[in-house]
Amino acid sequence: MKNGKIEIKKNVLLKDYSTFRIGGKARYFVEVRNISQLIEAINWSYKKDIPFFVLGGGSNILFLAKECKELVIRCAISYIRHTNNNLKFETLYAGAGTRLERLVQFSLKESLTGLEWMVGIPGTIGGAVCNNAGAFGKEVKDIVKKVKILKVSKNGLETKTFSNEDCQFSYRSSLFKNNKSYIIVEVELELKKEKKSRIESKIKENLLYRKVHQPLEYPSIGSIFKNIPFSRCRPSLLEKFPDLKQFQNRKEIPAAYLIDSCGLKEKKIGGAQISKKHSNFIINTGKATAEDVMILISLIKQKVRDKFGIQLEEEIIIF
Ligand SMILES: Cc1cc2nc3c(=O)[nH]c(=O)nc-3n(C[C@H](O)[C@H](O)[C@H](O)COP(=O)(O)OP(=O)(O)OC[C@H]3O[C@@H](n4cnc5c(N)ncnc54)[C@H](O)[C@@H]3O)c2cc1C
Repeated sequence: MKNGKIEIKKNVLLKDYSTFRIGGKARYFVEVRNISQLIEAINWSYKKDIPFFVLGGGSNILFLAKECKELVIRCAISYIRHTNNNLKFETLYAGAGTRLERLVQFSLKESLTGLEWMVGIPGTIGGAVCNNAGAFGKEVKDIVKKVKILKVSKNGLETKTFSNEDCQFSYRSSLFKNNKSYIIVEVELELKKEKKSRIESKIKENLLYRKVHQPLEYPSIGSIFKNIPFSRCRPSLLEKFPDLKQFQNRKEIPAAYLIDSCGLKEKKIGGAQISKKHSNFIINTGKATAEDVMILISLIKQKVRDKFGIQLEEEIIIF
């Protein structure tokens, strides 16, 4: 079905748009490459009275439904503009659908530091802002200056620009995670000049760490659960499990440690398996279904709750 400049496709397999390679059909699906196409897609969904869902790189979503009734709008607004307007910082403007990998390579080429930690994260900058993605002690919130969004409401569509403070960034969350009427269209990043060789060696070091510690050879959606703030540990828990004290300086207890301690490493349900390399990753060994993953998630939560009295919370989106 062609529709002006956009093409609304029917019955599209979402597993082809997920790094997990799991997913049912989207009844309606459209890829948008610029703001006009995004507006057109939203107007289409309004006219048809069909809700929409915005997808980035699909690297943090478990598609649960056999058939998704929403219009899935895949944000492929991808570009990078670079300005150096003052001596202290340099600014990159990136379309929301720009791949993090492309941004990392661009920053290396331009000798800009601040994005090295993103290497190996298979998402888009829009998804990363929504999640306040982070690694190696850094987060998106550290480098975002402004976020341009399209606000969707009954009164129509309007573009707005949010400052870093407006975005309400917190651990793996932001204003956008819980407010689906805000669609990120462009992100302004503030970076600094640095020696290319230093940036390159940091990128290599981070990538090597990922290859050793994460199951990059299997489809996955990254860490399933959020880590636990150390402050949530009651003294009685530390008395019972003194090993937990090793995480006091880190200020959080890795969910992977808790899962490991329950003896769940490599536990398999159907085709879904807890990774041998990283217990907070569930991998698709080939034919995993969303149900296999959900059963494994609920088993993990139950075992961790029974042993530690801690309730794990999903970091991923289940849709
Ligand atoms: C191997 C691997 C390693 C990973 N490592 C890390 C890591 O180190 N740190 C980390 O934080 N994450 C990591 N992840 C998870 C994931 O890659 C990141 O969270 C990533 O930022 C998600 O981006 P995405 O474009 O794929 O978003 P998606 O998965 O497509 O979407 C995530 C959320 O963002 C929303 N969204 C996407 N685009 C927009 C937009 N334009 N406007 C509004 N909302 C939008 C979606 O609606 C959804 O709610 C990893 C994943 C994998 C598979």
